[in-house]
Amino acid sequence: MFAIMLSFTITAQSHYPGQHSGKLVIPDKTQMKAYSFDLQDIQLLDSPFKENMMRESTWILSITTKQLLHSFRTTAGLYTGKEGGYMDMKKLGGWESLDCDLRGQTTGHILSALSLLYATTGYNIYKLKADSLVKGLAEVQQALHQDGYLSAFPQGLIDRNIAGQSVWAPWYTLHKIFAGLIDQYLNCDNRQALEIVNKMASWAYEKLKPLLQEQRTVMLRNEFGGMNDVFYNLYAITGNLHDKWLAEFFYQNEMLDPLKEQKDNLDKKHANTFIPKLIGLTRDYEIEGNVENMKIARFFWNTVVDHHSYCTGSNSDKEKFFKPDNESAHLTGYTCESCNVYNMLKLTRHLFCAEPNEKYADYYEKALYNHILGQQDPESGMIAYFLPMLPGAHKVYSTPDSSFWCCVGTGFENQAKYAEAIYYHTDKALYVNLFIPSVLTWKEKAITVRQDTNFPDDATTTLTILTSTKVTMPLYIRYPSWATSGAKIKVDGKILKVIQKPGSYITIDRKWKNNDKIEITYPMFLRLVQSDNDSISAIAYGPVVLAGVMGTEGMEKPAPFSNPKLYNDYYTYDYHVPADLVHQLKLGKKNLSNSIKQIAGTQRLTFKTINEGIILQPLFSIHHQRYVVYWNLK
Ligand SMILES: [Zn+2]
Repeated sequence: MFAIMLSFTITAQSHYPGQHSGKLVIPDKTQMKAYSFDLQDIQLLDSPFKENMMRESTWILSITTKQLLHSFRTTAGLYTGKEGGYMDMKKLGGWESLDCDLRGQTTGHILSALSLLYATTGYNIYKLKADSLVKGLAEVQQALHQDGYLSAFPQGLIDRNIAGQSVWAPWYTLHKIFAGLIDQYLNCDNRQALEIVNKMASWAYEKLKPLLQEQRTVMLRNEFGGMNDVFYNLYAITGNLHDKWLAEFFYQNEMLDPLKEQKDNLDKKHANTFIPKLIGLTRDYEIEGNVENMKIARFFWNTVVDHHSYCTGSNSDKEKFFKPDNESAHLTGYTCESCNVYNMLKLTRHLFCAEPNEKYADYYEKALYNHILGQQDPESGMIAYFLPMLPGAHKVYSTPDSSFWCCVGTGFENQAKYAEAIYYHTDKALYVNLFIPSVLTWKEKAITVRQDTNFPDDATTTLTILTSTKVTMPLYIRYPSWATSGAKIKVDGKILKVIQKPGSYITIDRKWKNNDKIEITYPMFLRLVQSDNDSISAIAYGPVVLAGVMGTEGMEKPAPFSNPKLYNDYYTYDYHVPADLVHQLKLGKKNLSNSIKQIAGTQRLTFKTINEGIILQPLFSIHHQRYVVYWNLK
């Protein structure tokens, strides 16, 4: 089966330094330099981010608990005799089909997504749905009666993995369920979820403890998602040394050891199998103080971001890394798997907490705007697997109930956690990393910060401090590396002299009183984002990658990807790009504004090239249209 030859990974939501402290019995040994807020502390205000989140929520709520438990109940033999309404139930297709090795992964992702939605909105509907899923999974675990094993597929798939036989990625799927249940405990306080996951961990320990070193090596060659991350997280919750043993068991020497030598071993490696392994290492650094593992994670991140990424912060061609600095040779229809970005953003969050360098926030912004935000179809709420860089390609979206690719699963989570990385804090200071309309409540400081902005359509953001007493708090405002034409800061209408440079933080340290306002403007301008090839470039405006809007000629309707029998055809999809599609531009490279003009009065950022008359808009906003990101420059 074609699909078996592929492999995919994701990790679900882990926790970050500063979060859920009341629920962890093992405190982090490493003193972090910045901490995350709990999602409960941040509320999104109206913006495209919130619109995406609510669309995703509608989709998630439309998939019934019975559908999400169906394959689990089938495997546990819980369907006997007549099942009443169950017979009429529309069964989930795609990667959730009863004959797919990965079935059950979506249920794990949805548990995580529901926990994030509940945390960020406080709406009880998400908790109620998750509660019924958790209850159903507890019944399945009991019915399976296999020492805590819980899955939608039989344990034989794990045995095949251990024996080195052909199987897709059973641990990868189990990881989603472990992570989803842990998120239910952490974000929704669901104790039953923790009981289930502890039994699963007990099963895993007994299953893996007898393995010989050779068996372990063979097993770990198959994709296993973020199993190390999830067991570190569980260890922090339980203090059970078996959980720590399991986390360390999933350290894959073959892939990770070369990174200790600062060797770029990424070429031809399946990207999303690789990235989650590093997230687990950052958790080991946080919990156990393992400095060596942090060095590996940092080296990996720098290597991926500086040498294996496109202008959008995405990576991979047909899911694999390729030679460093070679993206111009990989402008294909199958670039930039979404799960990879999901995992890179998680890794970025851990690295920022350890070392709050602006470059991490820069990357987060780049990948969030240029990849994650635009992967959801605003008409249908469906999610794209790849972000094709082939000039003239277009986004290919999932179906509501017959795709369930890995990127649909991570998509459920991505769209639910836009609030997670806007703000960070130290004991005293507040970091403002992203310019997204939101309200932060910092309980320990008894302070509320409201952020109003239309960024990136508007280059200004306004922070308002709400406090009942005066409070001393240094404010670290991110000064993006792209903002090379300077910064304008006003505090209560008075201009503040900025001495810092782009790629750093502007510090405002003062005693704040109620209703103090900070107005921040980073003027944006057009710039080229050079590829490894001098004559191939993308165009950006501020942090936003602009793409040519290239029409719909030759696009098939209805698109073949809506055919449930072809649920994997995103992987071989023929884009039928018209032979005469323009992807050359004549630009005055020194001053782009001589060859590209902004069109005033449009709803969103819109530009036009003077010579070719091509309309450019933010890549994230282009849907159901062909586009060009990388141009041949004459
Ligand atoms: Zn994926």
